[in-house]
Amino acid sequence: MTVPFTDIATLYIDGQHVAPQGGHEAVINPATEAVIGHAPVAESAQVDAAIAAARSAFDHGPWPQMTMDERGDVLDRMVAALRARQADIAALIVAEVGCAQGITHLMQVANPINHLASTIRYGRRDEADRLPIDITPNMMMPGGPQSIGGTTVVREPFGVVSAITGYNFPFLLNLAKIGPALMAGCTMVLKPSPFTPYSALLFGQICDEIGLTAGVLNIVTGGTSEGQLLCTDPRVDMVTFTGSEGVGASIMAQAAPTLKKVHLELGGKSAMIVRHDADVQRAAAMAVGFLSVNAGQGCAIPTRLLVHNSIRPAFVAAATAFAAHIRIGNASNPDVTMGPLIRESQRAKVEHYIALGKAAGATLVCGGGRPAGLDQGFFTDFTLFDNVTNDMAIAQDEIFGPVGCIIGFDSDDEAVQIANDSRYGLNGAIETADAATGYAMAMRIRTGSVALNGGTGTMSFAPIGGYKRSGIGREYGPHWLREYQHEKSVFYPIG
Ligand code: NAD
Repeated sequence: MTVPFTDIATLYIDGQHVAPQGGHEAVINPATEAVIGHAPVAESAQVDAAIAAARSAFDHGPWPQMTMDERGDVLDRMVAALRARQADIAALIVAEVGCAQGITHLMQVANPINHLASTIRYGRRDEADRLPIDITPNMMMPGGPQSIGGTTVVREPFGVVSAITGYNFPFLLNLAKIGPALMAGCTMVLKPSPFTPYSALLFGQICDEIGLTAGVLNIVTGGTSEGQLLCTDPRVDMVTFTGSEGVGASIMAQAAPTLKKVHLELGGKSAMIVRHDADVQRAAAMAVGFLSVNAGQGCAIPTRLLVHNSIRPAFVAAATAFAAHIRIGNASNPDVTMGPLIRESQRAKVEHYIALGKAAGATLVCGGGRPAGLDQGFFTDFTLFDNVTNDMAIAQDEIFGPVGCIIGFDSDDEAVQIANDSRYGLNGAIETADAATGYAMAMRIRTGSVALNGGTGTMSFAPIGGYKRSGIGREYGPHWLREYQHEKSVFYPIG
C-alpha cells in the first residue's frame, strides 16, 4: 500500500509545484528499511528562488498588510484541511519516523493542529497597546514647559523567515513554525530534515486548497548546504530552527554576518527528580513511558532519573518490570508501543553511548543491545543504567534514544544541584507527595518547563523552550506570535 503523500515529487516555490533540480532521493521507512518514496531534492538555485519568492511576497504582496482576522480566516481553512487529512498524516508519520501509533495520532498530529487553532485565536486578539499618557521634561528648554503625550505600540510582521526543522516530530515542528509565522504576517521558506521530507511537502497541497497567496509559504528540501543558504542570505530577516545543539550553534554563526534574528529550539538532557516520598510505582511507570516515546527521540524527555537513594532499589525494580511490557516493532502494528530509531547512524550513536556507559562503570539494568527477531529496521533495546554519576558522558550528552540514566541523591539540595549540572535546560520533572516542596524545587531548576507530579498542562497555553544550550526563544503560549513580530512605538503629543 502506498504511504500517503509519498507521491509528491515536486518542491513548492512561489505557489508552483516545481520539479527539483537535484533529482529525487529515496526515503526509507526506519522500521523496514523499505523505500516509501522518492522525494524531490532542491538545488541551491531553487533555494534562492524560494527566498526571492518569500521576499517579494513580503515586500509587495497582500499577506503582511492583511489584518489578523483576514489571515486567521485563511489559516482556519488550513486547520480544516489538515483535520480532513489527519489519518493520512498519521499514516505518513508512522512510515517516515517509525513512531508508535498512539503517540503519533495524539502528539504528532492532533496536538499540533490544535496548536495552530490556538495561534489563530491568540492572533485575532492581538491588538495594539495604547499606553498611558506620560509627561516628559522639555528637552529643548530645560526648566521650560513639560510635554504631555501618549504612545501606541503596534506589532508588525518580522519579515522573511527561514524555518529549518528536525526529523523526530516532523509535522509538529513544521506546523510550529508555519502557524505563528504566517499568522503574524511573515512569509517563509521551510526546509525539513532530509529524513522526513513529506511531512513538509504535504503543505504544498494544503496551500493550494486554502488559496494561500503565492510566495507566502515556500517549501524546499535538501541538507546542510541548503540550510546554510537559508541562514546566510541577506534577504532573510529571521531564522527559526528546531534541531540539535551543534547545528543550532552553527546556525547562529551563519546568521551573524547579516544580523538575523535567530530563534532556536534545541536539545535536552532533562532530569526527573523522584523524592523519597514519591509513589515509586507511578514514578517508574512515567519514567519508562516518557523514555519510550518515539524510541527516546524527543527533546524534552527526562533521560536522567534522579532517585532518592532510600527508594532507588524499589524504583529500579519497578522500572525494569515496566520496561518488560514495552512492545518494540513496526508501528504499522497498533499494539507496538516503541518503534525504531530513524537511521543506522542514530542507532550507532546510541550503541556508542551504551558502550561508554558500561566502560564508565554504570550498571546495566535492562536492555543494552538489539531486540531479538527484528533484523530489519533500526531497532534498539529499551535500556536503563543504574549507578550513573552525573559526570559520565551518558548523563551529560543528549543520546536521543531510549536510554535512561538512574542517578542517586540524598537531599533535595543535591537533587536540584545535579538537575542543574547540565549544559542543557529544556525540561524537568519532580515526583513527590509534598507538592509544595516540589513546587519550590521547580522554581530552582533552570529549565524552560518542569512537570510536577505528572502535570502535563497544555502547550497551546504554556510557552515551551530552553534555558542555556537548549535554545533561545519560546514556542506556544500567549506570546508565541511575538517571536515573529516587530514592536513599533508611535509617540504622539497631546494638546
Ligand atoms: P539536526 O540538527 O541534525 O538537523 C535539523 C535540521 O538542520 C535538518 O533540516 C538539517 O538538514 C539542518 N541542518 C543541518 N546542518 C545545518 C546547517 N549548518 N545550517 C542549516 N541547517 C542545517 O537535528 P535532528 O537530528 O533532525 O533532530 C534532533 C534534534 O532536534 C535533537 O537534538 C532534539 O533534541 C532537537 N529537537 C528539539 C526540539 C525543541 O523543541 N527544543 C524539538 C524537537 C527536536
